Amino acid sequence: MPRALVTGITGQDGQHLAEFLHTKGYDVFGLVKGQNNPKGDAIRKEFPFVQLVPGDLADLTSLIQAVEVSAPDEVYNLAAISFVAMSFNQAELTANLTGLGVLRMLEAVRIVGGNQANPMRFYQASSSEMFGKVRETPQTERTPFHPRSPYGCAKVFGHDIVVNYRESYDMFACSGILFNHEGPRRGLEFVTRKVTNAAARIKLGLQHELVLGTLDTKRDWGYAGDYVKAMWLMLQQDEPDDYVVATGVTHTIETMVELAFTEVGIADWRQYVRQDPRFTRPAEVDLLIGDASKARDKLGWKPEVDFADLIKMMVAHDLQWEASKAGITTPDV
Ligand code: NDP
Ligand code: GDP
Repeated sequence: MPRALVTGITGQDGQHLAEFLHTKGYDVFGLVKGQNNPKGDAIRKEFPFVQLVPGDLADLTSLIQAVEVSAPDEVYNLAAISFVAMSFNQAELTANLTGLGVLRMLEAVRIVGGNQANPMRFYQASSSEMFGKVRETPQTERTPFHPRSPYGCAKVFGHDIVVNYRESYDMFACSGILFNHEGPRRGLEFVTRKVTNAAARIKLGLQHELVLGTLDTKRDWGYAGDYVKAMWLMLQQDEPDDYVVATGVTHTIETMVELAFTEVGIADWRQYVRQDPRFTRPAEVDLLIGDASKARDKLGWKPEVDFADLIKMMVAHDLQWEASKAGITTPDV
């Protein structure tokens, strides 16, 4: 059985990837931080096949131990401070975990993996946020980076150090430059889930308004379940490389809000939505749209779930989730 170590197992992508690798017959190991992390218990319950190993991206020794214990064929480095807004308030922590954390994981793999007959393969979760103030549209693997947040800057460092380790030590290390991807497991702090959850709660009478920042920015949103397949495909190739993973379609926040409210049967969404500068950022990424031709041609990857079905899936989940928490019967919408 192939073995995989996934950092960020308690996050959205970690959960999708764990499920996917399990169906592929992998022994899945997941890195969990903290001394009694409640998210670790949730993983034990929902994914009993995952073997949890302790470790923190800030602590190289713990990462070396995690790699030793799991002895993986493939390492997927998904752990990070992943919320752009938070990265402005905790820039140093973001640089340490989202940036330097990549270096530490690479070192752990280099140190432990050096003793193995078959070199470990390494996947890094790079981000479209690296394109920031975009230099060209759509963005490809060759588009120069211009990050607009401490998160974006940290991801650029992570991306560049992966390329450097690949070239310096001949490591099989790949970066997936993934555009925004969402789903029912997305954190409530991200705009899609904040909106689908609010639409569901407003429909159920549990909430009366939705407070947002900008409605004008555009994102290329895909489904997380599709995107983890691209991560795996990258590590199955003969040569390591970097790939953009995106749908190639972009929408405004406003369109997304309209769609989510329409899903719950509310036509006049504007009466529930208020804008507040509290949710705007010191610097914004106005437009993202990716060209995933390379992933399509070389990996044979393409997205399966489109934007409308993604929002529909998230609203349906949130309606049921919120209704069951409140002991309400889910309305027909
Ligand atoms: P999440 O925020 O859902 O998950 C982040 C994970 O990182 C959690 O499991 C968290 O653990 C873990 N983590 C945070 N700090 C540490 C630490 N110090 N040591 C060990 N683990 C830590 O992110 P996603 O699943 O959405 O994203 C996965 C990766 O992909 C991230 O690197 C993200 O930046 C990147 N990415 C995501 C995109 C998206 O649209 N989702 C787009 C492009 C890139 P805990 O739960 O215990 O806090
Ligand atoms: P990001 O693309 O990784 O920053 O993902 P987010 O979901 O956090 O944000 C996507 C876009 O939505 C950004 O342009 C945000 O500024 C914008 N946005 C507008 N209002 C909000 C809000 O209330 N919360 C969040 N998270 N983003 C918002």
